Amino acid sequence: MCERSNHLIMSESENCQITYCTCCEHFSFVYNNCCASFDLKKLVGLRKAIESLEDIDFLYDFLNRPTAIIRGKNETMGICLRQEDIDPVLRALYETETLHEAHKIINSP
Ligand SMILES: [Zn+2]
Repeated sequence: MCERSNHLIMSESENCQITYCTCCEHFSFVYNNCCASFDLKKLVGLRKAIESLEDIDFLYDFLNRPTAIIRGKNETMGICLRQEDIDPVLRALYETETLHEAHKIINSP
């Protein structure tokens, strides 16, 4: 993780911010009180995992609301999402991927 000055804001909304570090090329994903760091491959993986969620995946009863937990293989921490989190998080991830593509094109030699 580098100093804050290398971070571009890729997406920002009420509960969610995704930044991109131009130095180490990592994405920082902050949603409510959860924070995770990904490379592009894992960011796309997260988006695909969220897209493939079905009703049956919301099997955790967290404060009386069905919650899905997305966790990578061999990882002890995960991201908890309720149904109403899906749209805003997917929007933020798509926004980030699109902006990252644009950033690559603009900065290619
Ligand atoms: Zn960095």
